[in-house]
Amino acid sequence: MISKEHIIKRFVSYVTVDTESDPNSNTTPSTEKQWDLANKLVDELRAIGMQDVSIDKHAYIMATLPSNVDHDVPTIGFISHFDTSPDFTGAHVNPQIIESYDGKDIVLNEAKNIILSPDYFEDLKQYVGQTLITTDGTTLLGADDKAGICEIISAMEYLIKHPEIKHGPIKVGFTPDEEIGRGAHKFDVEKFGADWAYTMDGSQIGELEYENFNAAGAVVKVKGKIVHPGYAKGKLINSMYIATEFINSLPRMETPEHTEGYQGFFHLHNIKGDVEETVLEYIIRDHDKGHFEARKEVMTKLTNELNDQYGYEVIVTEIKDQYFNMLEKIEPVMHIVDIAEEAMKQTGIKPIIKAIRGGTDGAQLSYMGLPCPNIFAGGHNFHGRFEYVPVESMIKATEVICKIAEITAIKA
Ligand SMILES: [Zn+2]
Repeated sequence: MISKEHIIKRFVSYVTVDTESDPNSNTTPSTEKQWDLANKLVDELRAIGMQDVSIDKHAYIMATLPSNVDHDVPTIGFISHFDTSPDFTGAHVNPQIIESYDGKDIVLNEAKNIILSPDYFEDLKQYVGQTLITTDGTTLLGADDKAGICEIISAMEYLIKHPEIKHGPIKVGFTPDEEIGRGAHKFDVEKFGADWAYTMDGSQIGELEYENFNAAGAVVKVKGKIVHPGYAKGKLINSMYIATEFINSLPRMETPEHTEGYQGFFHLHNIKGDVEETVLEYIIRDHDKGHFEARKEVMTKLTNELNDQYGYEVIVTEIKDQYFNMLEKIEPVMHIVDIAEEAMKQTGIKPIIKAIRGGTDGAQLSYMGLPCPNIFAGGHNFHGRFEYVPVESMIKATEVICKIAEITAIKA
């Protein structure tokens, strides 16, 4: 229904605009260059015939496709982000188009000997015969999440050109700065005006997600006492040893490298220390709210125990919640997941439903009053030089968006 050439052309026109976000910036968008693509998207939304196209002072884009039926239909939304990850450069992206992929190694960059191989990236094997878009080995691709934007705009364009497909009101939202965790921060849920939405920001074809981690960050400050080592007996307290005690008192197997599925963890991701002070930085993750609270409690208890043992406040632990599992907000409205699942099945896609071991903008939006499961956008190996996306997956995602609109108008 949607031509490959059309999708490729649109996608390439987005990924060749550098939109890398910057966690060290306090502005929104975090980088000026994100405006380049944002302004282009606004023009494009107007050109395809979307209504009420707006961009605010923080570069949040919204647009409406009005209902084409007489009866009342809930307003649904589709959301994606136009920034790319600061983990890897997004400047001068030079996409390579691999027609009818033969299942063998793909040489991304001959001079630098950079190879995308199905021996290592086994997912490639499911795309034999399809058209892949890869990098030239020197940048990321930006399918995360420009594939999502490409799919949403292409779906809106298709619905506008095919008024025989009946749908209710549809809202489109594009955000900056998702990759630095701020995509939802300045999203005006009330202005958006949807009853629910979907982020098009998942990976492989079929992914449908409505559970994610509960997340907190902990900073553990261990305070020692410094004395000349020659005269230190009974006086010196080495903060690094106490920090080690703290680290070793947490369950060693409950770490990212030993867990999967619904298993939570403590993750020590930074240590800085000398005799006088050692600072440990942790993240705490668990899908289960009760287990999540218990994990935070474990850290607080351990802190208190060590303080009692040393007889002074040797450790100060500060724990801050970061985001929560959207499941709590999706469960009361499970029909929105059912609709997405049904849309995939009708499009010939096998839904892959799994809990995200991370967070999404949709999770934050769900807690801001906009229930928002996540749907595949089609790409693989995000945030690096091996990122690629099959064009067929992008076309399927576009079809899923149209189908969700259609089913919502009939069922909801
Ligand atoms: Zn993304």
